[in-house]
Amino acid sequence: MPISSYDIVIGLEVHCQVKTNTKMFCSCATGFGAQVNTNTCPVCLGLPGALPVINHEAVKKTLIAGHMLGCHPPKISKWDRKNYFYPDMPKNYQTTQLDLPLCIDGEVPLYAHNYPKESVKDIDPNKPVIKLDHIHLEEDVAKSTHFNQHSLIDFNRAGTPLMEIVTMPDIETPEQAVSYLKSLQQILIYGGISDADMEKGQLRCDVNVSLKPKGQVKFGEKIELKNLNSITAVRKSLYYEINRQAQELDAGIAQIQSTRRWDDELGETQLMRTKENADDYRYFSCPDLLPIATEPFMEEVKSLCPELPHHKQQRFITDFKLNDYDASILCSERSIADFFELSLEQGAGIEPKKIANWIINELMSLINKDNLSITQCVITPTHIAGLARLVQDNICSNNQAKEVLQALADSPEKTAEAVAKELGFEAASAGDNAELESIIAGLLADNPDKVAEIKGGNTKAANWFTGQVMKASQGKANPKIISQTIMSQLGL
Ligand code: ADP
Ligand code: ZN
Ligand code: MG
Repeated sequence: MPISSYDIVIGLEVHCQVKTNTKMFCSCATGFGAQVNTNTCPVCLGLPGALPVINHEAVKKTLIAGHMLGCHPPKISKWDRKNYFYPDMPKNYQTTQLDLPLCIDGEVPLYAHNYPKESVKDIDPNKPVIKLDHIHLEEDVAKSTHFNQHSLIDFNRAGTPLMEIVTMPDIETPEQAVSYLKSLQQILIYGGISDADMEKGQLRCDVNVSLKPKGQVKFGEKIELKNLNSITAVRKSLYYEINRQAQELDAGIAQIQSTRRWDDELGETQLMRTKENADDYRYFSCPDLLPIATEPFMEEVKSLCPELPHHKQQRFITDFKLNDYDASILCSERSIADFFELSLEQGAGIEPKKIANWIINELMSLINKDNLSITQCVITPTHIAGLARLVQDNICSNNQAKEVLQALADSPEKTAEAVAKELGFEAASAGDNAELESIIAGLLADNPDKVAEIKGGNTKAANWFTGQVMKASQGKANPKIISQTIMSQLGL
């Protein structure tokens, strides 16, 4: 049967490092790049008798994420031990949450701009969100690196707060999975919950996938793909696995619930274990940690919860008359949206679209060139407002203002106005520049054939004059003023 005769059912479990200064149950520093095995203590080394203390910042951030995604916190949330032989977790249990996680239900919006480019045409308008099952908080294990004869282990990561976001089996295509992951990532960064950088392992994903004949209610047996660390790997492994399962089902081979690994080099999944030899974790409530009453957190959580990207985008479209595309670029990162709004404040009276153009067309290419984020860039919202004003006040043409921007990048302590002056761009309005008037009058008198062309409606001829005047002024004159002057001298 063709793949189109099957329903694809996908559920994702995303592990996300919560951005806190200290670990989940001790005061050791979190963070990337410290000397190995230096951020450790008896608690995160799992030494006998060490007692955990809850990191309230991690709890709060998880509740904020839940609030942004429309989850409901249970009144009381509690901690459980998941028992297992972990080579990278010497106490041999992980402190996690089983039946009373911090957040229940909720949904993640699927943003159109987060679909792979070539599949935008296939977006299903009836599928605006992916439903969540729950979000819980747990501790990360240490990081092990394996060699032929031995393994090395770094406990700096052990005990880092880890949020697990589990979807319902609600995803229907690999493309939806991609949009889900990118949209989730975008929202987590917006909320300051996590930097969610997959390359740094701050976001990792388990993929569950099964097929069933189209329309059948009962789900097929799920296959779990463990620990994928890039969105490309999620998409590729899903394609592979959907094909593999379809071929086996076609051949009458029933699937059994199992766990597989994705081999990126070979581009295939390989069986790790089946349900029969799945681990029994013997969960029980953690006797060392008190349950959490969530209500006292909620006032603060609500006040710290930022506007969601799609709400911000809609507000930009309505309030600032931006088009969809501009608004989605500006809202792709909270820091860019904030920069835009600050620029608007500095540029009272300037059309928001003009400010948006400066940020999207000029500033973004400046920072992309140097691989910077907007917060690292030396150009400020005041600069951007200043540039837009230079053009609006006819001090500079657009191209001249771009020169000002380049100069500002080297001398950010200056204002846009000051740099424009240094570069010789002067305020002028049509009619008040005698020198310009006389250059133009001379040119018009010397070129009666071109004048006739302009009068005949040929605007290219007018551009030729503008070019000549620009040359005569060594690029300092304002082309808009020049063409206004030409037209007024010709009585047009
Ligand atoms: P387990 O108890 O094995 O962890 P869960 O029921 O907790 O299984 O589900 C884990 C993930 O697998 C969830 O994201 C869920 O949506 C997804 N899932 C559950 N059943 C299926 C299925 N038949 N096909 C695909 N995904 C599934
Ligand atoms: Zn510690
Ligand atoms: Mg589960």
